[in-house]
Amino acid sequence: MFDKNESKDIHDHFPILDRRINKDKPLIYFDSAATSQKPMAVIRAISDYYQQSNANIHRGIHELAEEATLQYEQARKKMAGFIGVQDPREIILTRNTTESINLVAKSWGEQFLNENDTILLTEMEHHSNLVPWFMLAEKKNLNIEFIPINEDGELDLEVFEHLLQHKPKLISFTHMSNVLGTINPAKRMCELAHQAGALVLIDGAQSVPHFAVDIADIQADFFAFSAHKMCGPTGIGVLFGRLSILNEMPPFLGGGDMIRKVTFSGFTPNDLPYKFEAGTPAIAEGIGWGAAVEYLNQIGMNKIHEHEKHLTEYAHNVIGSMKGITILGPQPDKKGGVISFTYDGIHPHDVAQILDREGIAVRAGHHCAMPLHQKLRIPASTRASFYLYNTTAEIDALAVALEKVGQVFS
Ligand code: PMP
Repeated sequence: MFDKNESKDIHDHFPILDRRINKDKPLIYFDSAATSQKPMAVIRAISDYYQQSNANIHRGIHELAEEATLQYEQARKKMAGFIGVQDPREIILTRNTTESINLVAKSWGEQFLNENDTILLTEMEHHSNLVPWFMLAEKKNLNIEFIPINEDGELDLEVFEHLLQHKPKLISFTHMSNVLGTINPAKRMCELAHQAGALVLIDGAQSVPHFAVDIADIQADFFAFSAHKMCGPTGIGVLFGRLSILNEMPPFLGGGDMIRKVTFSGFTPNDLPYKFEAGTPAIAEGIGWGAAVEYLNQIGMNKIHEHEKHLTEYAHNVIGSMKGITILGPQPDKKGGVISFTYDGIHPHDVAQILDREGIAVRAGHHCAMPLHQKLRIPASTRASFYLYNTTAEIDALAVALEKVGQVFS
């Protein structure tokens, strides 16, 4: 947990946190699971790039182009290092987690899956790890099966082992649920899946920003995440893929940069990672993301995780004990910094609206996980999600504001 001085320093790294909401209320930002705020180091890196080095990359033989290319490729290496990947050719830069998953569905899925093949997903997936598979299943007549969640909001691993007997070709699951906060046992699941002959794709949108992730240890075959949830800019994400698998996959989008040679009769694709990176990429965003990785490394991912664990436990005690409030998902020791809850008789949109008046930003709705809400038999929930810049004092303020919400609707 960060002490008072550290918390003050971190707060000062994020200029937006000094905003006032509803005239004079200090902003309390509890919506980092949707997108995190950006520290000055990232904002400055993007601004410096545009002021000093802006040029298109990979093609130009002039100083600016070389500088921009170097900075962009250095950022790719930083991202690789951040998740325990040795070879930057395994880091494909996409627009976001969603595009990374679509890339696997379209390229790998269309090439290697056949009629009646099975894909295993879970009941806690974000739409971005559901819809690309539904689209593919419709096209190729595939079976999709779901690993269920138990009453605590954790995956039922016994059923998972049973479903593996159906010999799925791919298991795709979220490392951490954006609604329940559940952290899934990724390494164990990869082991079991590999023993059954399946490949594994992990949606790391909510894990990489919040705790140290080592892909070499987890042994995932594909791994997707986004910059914007980890202090970086919007518009850029990563797909990690094993080199041997990426080499067998056809290109995703066609155009400039992804080719080695083009003639009037066709093309030969470029080497990795460029084979999957058609067109001018998000250069400033990539460089900004590199700065975000440096920033998080400086603070320390283990410290960030400890801090969020403390906040989550604190919130479970303070908010979870309030009358009418039920927190979804497992106990704090099994989850990351996400508190989704229902408030008896009060719609989440009303809760969020009243909290907004108090300067507190939370999210209300299905959080792009409609099937999970159907499973939980609730139409929607309110979600407060934490990051390194949040404090227990802010959680106290949330509790006071939630009391007010209760009074308004009593
Ligand atoms: N998966 C999970 C678990 C998420 O929380 C999110 C973002 N809400 C996504 C995928 C999609 O991320 P993006 O919108 O950056 O593609």
